Amino acid sequence: MINDYVKVRNLEEACDLLKSGNATIIGGGTTIFELYERGLLQDVEVFVDLEKAGLDYILEDEAHYRIGSCVTFSRLLEEGTFLRNPQYMSLWEAIKAVKPMQVKNVATISGSVCSAIPFYDPPVALSSLGAKVVIAGSNGERVKEVKDFITGFLSRDLNRELVKELLLPKLPKGVGSSFIKFGRTRFDYGLVTVSCVVSVDEDGFIKSAKVFLGNYDQKPFEVVEVERALLDRRPEPNYLKGILRRLDETTPIPSIHGSSEYKKELAKTLTIRSILTAYERAMMGWRS
Ligand SMILES: Cc1cc2nc3c(=O)[nH]c(=O)nc-3n(C[C@H](O)[C@H](O)[C@H](O)COP(=O)(O)OP(=O)(O)OC[C@H]3O[C@@H](n4cnc5c(N)ncnc54)[C@H](O)[C@@H]3O)c2cc1C
Repeated sequence: MINDYVKVRNLEEACDLLKSGNATIIGGGTTIFELYERGLLQDVEVFVDLEKAGLDYILEDEAHYRIGSCVTFSRLLEEGTFLRNPQYMSLWEAIKAVKPMQVKNVATISGSVCSAIPFYDPPVALSSLGAKVVIAGSNGERVKEVKDFITGFLSRDLNRELVKELLLPKLPKGVGSSFIKFGRTRFDYGLVTVSCVVSVDEDGFIKSAKVFLGNYDQKPFEVVEVERALLDRRPEPNYLKGILRRLDETTPIPSIHGSSEYKKELAKTLTIRSILTAYERAMMGWRS
């Protein structure tokens, strides 16, 4: 039963409140609202709001862009100009895929990751980009890749802790990325989503690849075999069709809008498109 709401002024205050075990962080509140309505916050007594805790920054150091946990989708689209570079287009497209402006204006990028909901878009792009979360608690800080931080449906690696910031690695020239979402309508959640990141050499051979599917498993699903099969190749469509057959051995989560078989076929088509787009963007880096 919720009986308190605290706007903390710094991280220490937040961590102290979380220590009790019956407090939870509130970001934009857009998922919390849904969880509350469904009776999933029965044990929570205190909402901890980080708005005044000094975590609304977008900074950079030599290796990373650092996005404070209070940064909203709209703010990141407006001020994160780096997102329009070929390397980060997947994250740009994933955030743009969240259509309601009212949601984008309050929802935080950290809240999206901490929700651990398989049909949310940004966590899929962040996983493919190798983004990390900085986790803070009363015992200090630790860092974890987004792909490992989300452990399942509504499940993430937090133990009376909070996410302080996201670290987005700085990626070199010759890297391109792409995110594609396919839903029943533009406003709907994705039936399947895909995010690909490839790095290519000047001769057009793929040197590294990341391929993640969203709403396919309980957490962003890495298609490791396809990633490996892309190495040292140029992505000809027929070759891609062949390697995507590896998805035949997977079992995506079905929904009332699409059976497992349908999602598998959809994932193949979207992944081919996404790899080709990411590849084109990566090559643009060498041409400019
Ligand atoms: C109408 C509507 C349409 C939507 N459409 C889409 C869509 O198309 N694509 C999509 O991806 N999403 C969509 N969403 C979901 C939206 O993106 C998420 O609700 C939002 O990202 C959650 O962020 P938040 O800041 O509001 O999180 P909150 O609701 O505040 O929190 C969500 C969860 O994360 C935890 N949390 C938040 N911040 C932290 C932190 N710093 N540290 C630790 N835990 C934290 C909370 O305790 C809670 O468990 C939609 C939502 C609505 C209401």
